[in-house]
Amino acid sequence: MVSRVIPVDPFDLVIFGATGDLARRKILPGLFRRYCAGQMPEEARIIGAARSEMDDDGFRDLVREAVRKFGGGRDCYDEALEGFLAHVGYEHVDAMGEGGWETLKARLRDGMVRAFYFSVAPSLFGALAERLRGFGLADDDSRVVVEKPFGKDLASARALNSTLAEHFDETQIYRIDHYLGKETVQNLMAVRFGNMLFEPLWNAQFVDHIQITVAETVDVSGRGAYYDTSGAMRDMVQNHLMQLLCLIAMEPPARFEPDSVRDEKLKVIRALDPVDYHHIVRGQYIADEKQPGYRSHVEDPRSTTESFVAMKISISNWRWAGTPFYLRTGKALKSQASEIAVVFKDAPHSIFGPEAGRHANVLVIRLQPNEGMTLGVTIKEPGPGGMRLKDVALDMSFADALGPDAEDIPDAYERLIMDVIRGNQTLFMRGDEVEAAWTWTDPIIEGWQRRGEVPKEYDAGSSGPDDALMLMHRDGRKWRDIKA
Ligand code: NAP
Repeated sequence: MVSRVIPVDPFDLVIFGATGDLARRKILPGLFRRYCAGQMPEEARIIGAARSEMDDDGFRDLVREAVRKFGGGRDCYDEALEGFLAHVGYEHVDAMGEGGWETLKARLRDGMVRAFYFSVAPSLFGALAERLRGFGLADDDSRVVVEKPFGKDLASARALNSTLAEHFDETQIYRIDHYLGKETVQNLMAVRFGNMLFEPLWNAQFVDHIQITVAETVDVSGRGAYYDTSGAMRDMVQNHLMQLLCLIAMEPPARFEPDSVRDEKLKVIRALDPVDYHHIVRGQYIADEKQPGYRSHVEDPRSTTESFVAMKISISNWRWAGTPFYLRTGKALKSQASEIAVVFKDAPHSIFGPEAGRHANVLVIRLQPNEGMTLGVTIKEPGPGGMRLKDVALDMSFADALGPDAEDIPDAYERLIMDVIRGNQTLFMRGDEVEAAWTWTDPIIEGWQRRGEVPKEYDAGSSGPDDALMLMHRDGRKWRDIKA
């Protein structure tokens, strides 16, 4: 079922930053898995590029090691890996220099899909785009893939957009937010727009509130230098949580086509109200007996960067006016869990009397772990002795529902790279979407800076600061427990 593979057209994919962390952990192993799945045509070619000097064989060694380490335990390794490596080559090129471009160009073939993956620091995007055009490697059909972070505020995102726009049309630019490549995230659209059951109830009349949680157990050690200049708001909320919010809240697009979907997402972002600062809680983890605190993971011992954010958001449109959205995300929390919970209103009247208690239906879409969906429904508690009610979960784990096929579900990077080759931008962010998200985010961050706000402390390994619990308690609601 899921293993139905639609091969892509022959392609040349150049990965700038091919020796870096992202390429080794995600991009190259992901491509290998697509090769194993039979999605990569025989003529496909992957060319790594970076400043390090090495030849094709040297790079193949790097890829071999990366796939073995991060390939995801496929049993076709040894037979397939050498076959995959035959598709791989390397050219050493400095994004800021003039050498190597002609030889790289000579490797590219006519009549193939041509894509360039910028897996390098955003400060190099402009130089790469300019040289790709200047040396004639890219034309009007070529595609460029750019990684996050896409700017650190509206001004820098605009500058990046206009730099890329000098060399490429918007239809050629693929801004990755890997959350959009996750199977469950796409399933969210299938559930909403493929079923009659949910959509009539999907509005403020029937939905009490929506919770979006992306909780991580990892702390920022090893990434401290980058993270401390970013924080949870820029690193997670402005992009990943915003994308989830858009997919949950958007109107049905006329078609599942790039601009139809992205137009609807943009309308959601533009309908977001500015956030009252009383409705946001920033947190920073402190040491517990097992792990050190945030400040020992970054250079600045007095850093006030947040590693946790919780907030209450409202959307001013007909569908959602009156239904709050609660978002939270953080590092060093007690469990690794990403989920969206749509909490429906109580039935308007209980025929079972007040002793039956309150029972709200909750639809939970789990992104990780154990991707799947749960619908909480109320039933009669079995047995004699009157009508007592209890809530049970209709639980669909993809792993159970799909059986062994679930192992073949491509991970986010695999799917998104194949979408680039197919020329399908539906799951990529458009430039105006990114700018709208920053337009909403910037005043929040500026407000923190203006007020000199210091994040609330929370224990590493906890659920976040107590104030985040209060954010919901004072509305008579509560967060779902973060549990793996
Ligand atoms: P990284 O480990 O520092 O790798 C950077 C890569 O860029 C290396 O291959 C480096 O190789 C190459 N490079 C640096 N300067 C260059 C130049 N002047 N010309 C050509 N190549 C150059 O970084 P990363 O973690 O892989 O991240 C890459 C991008 O992905 C960044 O934009 C990052 O924000 C984004 N990202 C990363 C992750 C992740 O999990 N790592 C997740 C999301 C987004 P040489 O030194 O040999 O040139």
